[in-house]
Amino acid sequence: MKQKKLKLILPIAARYSLAGNQSRWRYPPYSLIFLAGLTPPEFDIEIVDENVDTLNMNDNPDLVGISCMTVTAKRGYEISEQYRAKGIPVILGGIHPTVVSEEAAQHADAIVVGEAENVWNELLDDFDAGKLRPVYKSDSYHNLSRIPTPRWDLVEKYRKKYTSFTTIQSTRGCPYDCEFCSTTVVCGKKIRTRPVKDVLNEIKKMKFDRLKPLIFYDDTINCIPSYAEELFKGLIPLNIKWAGYATVNMTENEKLLNLAHKSGCVGLFVGFETIKKENQRNMRKSSRLKFDYNEAINIFHKYKIGLLGAFLFGLDYDDSSVFEDTYEFIKESKLDSMTLNIVQPYPGTRFYNRLKEENRITVHDWNNYILDSLCYQPKNMTQDELINGFRWIYHKVSRLWPTTTRIVRNFLQRKNSGIIILAQNMGCRRTNKMIKKR
Ligand code: SF4
Repeated sequence: MKQKKLKLILPIAARYSLAGNQSRWRYPPYSLIFLAGLTPPEFDIEIVDENVDTLNMNDNPDLVGISCMTVTAKRGYEISEQYRAKGIPVILGGIHPTVVSEEAAQHADAIVVGEAENVWNELLDDFDAGKLRPVYKSDSYHNLSRIPTPRWDLVEKYRKKYTSFTTIQSTRGCPYDCEFCSTTVVCGKKIRTRPVKDVLNEIKKMKFDRLKPLIFYDDTINCIPSYAEELFKGLIPLNIKWAGYATVNMTENEKLLNLAHKSGCVGLFVGFETIKKENQRNMRKSSRLKFDYNEAINIFHKYKIGLLGAFLFGLDYDDSSVFEDTYEFIKESKLDSMTLNIVQPYPGTRFYNRLKEENRITVHDWNNYILDSLCYQPKNMTQDELINGFRWIYHKVSRLWPTTTRIVRNFLQRKNSGIIILAQNMGCRRTNKMIKKR
């Protein structure tokens, strides 16, 4: 029987493609790799990641699947229209088609709303029968104990182009429901866990690149402490290095931090988001109000964990003093690296809905929902103050001297985390150049 050709595409954000494929962090398209794992063998699958490759649209696959976030939605629609013009059916899935289904449906033969795993095989059966439905939506979240074997072989060609090729997910969902974040909207508030033995078996099969750590894609690796403890204990004998995402609450559990360190944790990405307590309250980050961020950073450092702090600007209680205050905080706190962004009102989030109600959304072009673009009217600043202040702090933190200081300090004090701290700090400098070009 002739194999049908399925092409799975991760589009690039226009903002990055204009800058010459220079996205800051590049990781394998995890969801597509798993979707490929679910696909029956009669399909010959190709995965194309536009963040690291040029997409050739002169081919004629039997079916195309495109995974879109808000910022890549327009590029996804453009690709879709080109294939559909040739009579090739296209499926759109991912966060954006989930939260803005009606819009996405206009650009596809079918859309997948929510997680694709539960509906993927039904969709492929319908495709075989020539009866694709416009919308596929699962009634329930996917059970993570039934995760397919990921098709890493399909992205092996990109191995060297990714910040780290070895990536994994042990949990999905996040209970915190921060106002600006779409995780809860798409994956739910209840955390689902994969059996620890499955996670460990998957890691054992991985081929690691020298110096590059395993990256846990979990939204928060520490959310269920008992699960994290079991996982970290299981990781110890594997003798690997890993990094992941965590919340500042992890500093309340030094036993867990110690286990994380012993299990090879070299870096954690922590969303501090804002140093203004009023903003934390407003975003429903009240669980963080009690933390002194400087003390928290010291506790992470005590366990030799490199810390990448994330900060957002343009929240309702930010005025023009926020840039200098945050810059001083970053400098004094001895953070190892950081990501800075203007908060984006992603559709589907409570932040978007609130700004829309308040008539404060000023830009509706999804291409602009990224990094330093400003798509709304801030509350306590003018738009110019926000954009200029953001560019100012980006420039300040990514100058050569502070960058070198962070990298050297990290190397001397927490030798293990060198490569991710180096990559993130250099990415910060590259992004600053991109911002300056605007
Ligand atoms: S920002 Fe982080 S902690 Fe908040 S809901 Fe999203 S994933 Fe959870």
